[in-house]
Amino acid sequence: MLLFNDEDKRELLEEVSIYNVCDFLGIEYQNAGCRKSILCPDHLNHNDQHYGSCFIYENTNTAHCFVCNKSFDTIDLLRLNGYGYYDALCQLANLSGSLSRFEKQPDKNNFGYPT
Ligand SMILES: [Zn+2]
Repeated sequence: MLLFNDEDKRELLEEVSIYNVCDFLGIEYQNAGCRKSILCPDHLNHNDQHYGSCFIYENTNTAHCFVCNKSFDTIDLLRLNGYGYYDALCQLANLSGSLSRFEKQPDKNNFGYPT
């Protein structure tokens, strides 16, 4: 089975480009100055209709919405699109192109489903 420890999670957050995740989720982005803007992914709290509030930061691989004053990493993007935490990690592993390295035997205390 696929299991993720904190180190795995960190790697996936760094390795899988936020653009990959946007493409996978069908999130479109537009050029806004020197940055790319997406519509705020936090649809529950922010009914964003116009590009220019939420920007992609490639250096940290996150998006930040200036209206909500919140940052979103790739796990957040997946979760805001209906993925559970564990499913989001599995999907990132899938997008990383090397799913198999997260195959682990659930026999150690330090591995387990993230809560
Ligand atoms: Zn927002």
